[in-house]
Amino acid sequence: MELLKQRILNDAKVKDDEVLKVDMFLNHQIDVELLNEIGKEFRRIFPDKGITKILTIESSGIGIACITAQYFGVPVVFAKKTESRNIDNDVYESQVHSFTKGITYTVRVSRNYIDSSDNVLIIDDFLAKGKAAMGLCDIAEQAGARINGVGIVIEKGFQDGRNILEARGIKVESLAIVDSMKNGNIIFK
Ligand code: 5GP
Repeated sequence: MELLKQRILNDAKVKDDEVLKVDMFLNHQIDVELLNEIGKEFRRIFPDKGITKILTIESSGIGIACITAQYFGVPVVFAKKTESRNIDNDVYESQVHSFTKGITYTVRVSRNYIDSSDNVLIIDDFLAKGKAAMGLCDIAEQAGARINGVGIVIEKGFQDGRNILEARGIKVESLAIVDSMKNGNIIFK
């Protein structure tokens, strides 16, 4: 997606050759017009009319998923990272290791909001080592839901997330794939 790639080149900052900071349009301040274009693009590349839900993970995925969901006409369900007394008795859970934060945490979704009649599209801001996306796939599988695919805004192609997901037979579509970002030089695939 050219508009997104241009925005990354103009505004993103590379940290330690591995982490891309996009706080100025995606992860802290949010450019809603850009998110609208992102939502339209996800609709175009995931044309299946049978998608029933968009599944994401808090917190960065929520805004992207909500705007995208308007183009699909379906609800968003987000996996929670914190325990919540309201839902904790009846949840699907999975463990996710965050490579950016260096911690493993539990994510959970209430059994009320995803089930075997669902055909879910998983959306997230980044794909790196695939742990967040795999955690969401694990939850969808526990619910008996069909996984339509994984839609990612920015994939870091030099990490192995895509291979892990595709090895499980999951379709992955990313709007921008960064092949390398050595010395602050961002190169797309
Ligand atoms: P994975 O689980 O695929 O290793 O990493 C994806 C998750 O980690 C995303 O939900 C995202 O929030 C975070 N993440 C991974 N790499 C980056 C990065 O380079 N920049 C930012 N801003 N977040 C990242």
